[in-house]
Amino acid sequence: MKYQIVKGLTGSSVKYTCDGCQTDLRSPLADAGKKDTCPTCRAELIVPGAKELERRKRLQARKEQAKAEAKERKQREREEQKQLAIAAEQEKRRQDEVRLMQEIEAANAMKQNLRQALDDVSFNLVDHDWSSGAPWVYECVEMGTLSFAWNEELSRIINRKAQEGWEYFRSESLVASRPAGCLGALFGGGPAFFNVVVLVFRRPAVIAKVERHYGVT
Ligand SMILES: [Zn+2]
Repeated sequence: MKYQIVKGLTGSSVKYTCDGCQTDLRSPLADAGKKDTCPTCRAELIVPGAKELERRKRLQARKEQAKAEAKERKQREREEQKQLAIAAEQEKRRQDEVRLMQEIEAANAMKQNLRQALDDVSFNLVDHDWSSGAPWVYECVEMGTLSFAWNEELSRIINRKAQEGWEYFRSESLVASRPAGCLGALFGGGPAFFNVVVLVFRRPAVIAKVERHYGVT
């Protein structure tokens, strides 16, 4: 039996002619291979196109299988990437920890070396060798204008410097000058004078030298 597959709005159908009465017939492709009766001559017939239907079903199944496989592959890849990212993060954290431990070890070793070097330092003003420079190094801290709580302010600075290893030596009150600004100079003004309080601290030069050697200042 000759037949033709045609595409319609609701899906494919099969067009054929009844062997008994030559009437043109049309059935859904899904009915191919099924028994039917010609509506004109009542002859029993089998809707043609079974092979085509089978072929399309196989094709559809293959397509769906490929789609499922692609989906599974994608999911597997996503999972793998997630695992890789987790592993990379863990490795980074491990390396950070190693680096931190190394830094702590290096700092401890440095401290140890510095302590040993300082143990060997002998500071003796009487025997001081002046050809190697003054026995003290000095540092000045400017106080600016003193507030009413000047004693607290002084104590705070002196104690902070003491913790850094500096001994309070003395204070100086100086008169400093600042050149007149543009406007002041325009009206014939001279430089402005103001009082500065300077705190002088000192520490043995040998210790400062050893600390400089170990990068501690
Ligand atoms: Zn017929």
